[in-house]
Amino acid sequence: MKENGKLPSLAAKWGATVEQWQDAAWQMRHACCTAEELERVLQLTLQERAALQQVGQRLAVRVTPHFLSLIDPANAADPLRRQVIPLPEELESHPEELVDPCGEQKDEKVPGLVHRYPDRVLLLCTDRCATYCRYCTRARMVSGKGRERWHLDWDGALKYLRDHAEVRDVLLSGGDPLLLTDERLDTMLSELRSISHIEFLRIGTRVPIMLPQRITPALCAMLHRHVPLFISIHCNHPHELGEDAERALGMLADSGIPLGNQSVLLRGVNDSAEVQRALVHRLLQCRVRPYYLYQCDPVVGTRHFRTHPQEGIDIISALRGFTSGYAVPQFVIDAPGGGGKVPLNPNYVVAEEPGRLLLRNFRGGIYEYPVTPQV
Ligand SMILES: *Cc1c(COP(=O)(O)O)cnc(C)c1O
Repeated sequence: MKENGKLPSLAAKWGATVEQWQDAAWQMRHACCTAEELERVLQLTLQERAALQQVGQRLAVRVTPHFLSLIDPANAADPLRRQVIPLPEELESHPEELVDPCGEQKDEKVPGLVHRYPDRVLLLCTDRCATYCRYCTRARMVSGKGRERWHLDWDGALKYLRDHAEVRDVLLSGGDPLLLTDERLDTMLSELRSISHIEFLRIGTRVPIMLPQRITPALCAMLHRHVPLFISIHCNHPHELGEDAERALGMLADSGIPLGNQSVLLRGVNDSAEVQRALVHRLLQCRVRPYYLYQCDPVVGTRHFRTHPQEGIDIISALRGFTSGYAVPQFVIDAPGGGGKVPLNPNYVVAEEPGRLLLRNFRGGIYEYPVTPQV
């Protein structure tokens, strides 16, 4: 990792040197997992302290020093803090909530391999993350605390993929695949690459945001050997994109890896057009193309994060036409019961009449499109 010289003020709490702070292993060893560890760097509220005593049974707590350094300690409602430090609401369960909201178990053909769409699969290759997001859609199985026992049948997954020539796209997720060692990941990518019908690989990861120190020249050189390989990061707020994340993303982009972002619309975190506009603009500066904006899945214990679906549509209306098309993500709901991703869009077709379409543009003006008769 290139030395960049500047240490966040928080690093003093650990007595860290610049070299230590920039080391991913140091960051993981010093990640905060308990109220006591968090209390050393943040003043916890009574609610947070109460929640921290109990939520570990649902989903473990872990926050890297790097991510903590981006949180404003004076603001209990800080949008980054809300994503990683639990509230007592997390222990509640509501009738609309599910343990497996996207119905992944139904489409799990081999342990760890979800095959739902015709030509692509989701491969859950670890159950660990650098930091645990409190709204995690896979809380049932990640962090080692979920109710579902962790299992990836790697040999079984490879056999399934060799036997299914219709699969041309494999998405590695988890957990966070970039927590695997370079060697392990290299082996997995190489074995996938040895299957001739697999054309395209991608990795879903929050490591460039939570643990940018993990993005090293060695990792980038290894990933480069497996192109075409895309990476989808997960970033929800412009404050997550500081200098270290920007440098990590730049290294990945320089390695020939196209970058997309998947964000989740979260109450109190990024549920306004202003924050979303700042987020997508900052992402483009970091060479990341906004890909999906997700409605928050109805996972048990996440009601306090959920917005009305109309709010997502309104955010897209506030972006489309008003800013670069490259900056506008697709808003989707991952339909409960295994329906998959359903796009939700503002309606720009006002009326369909013989010979013409009435269209509404982004400013609300009405325009007529003459439809050519089809012979
Ligand atoms: C999201 C997802 C994919 C990938 O979908 P894209 O729209 O191609 O990004 C594949 N499989 C499963 C099960 C998914 O949830």
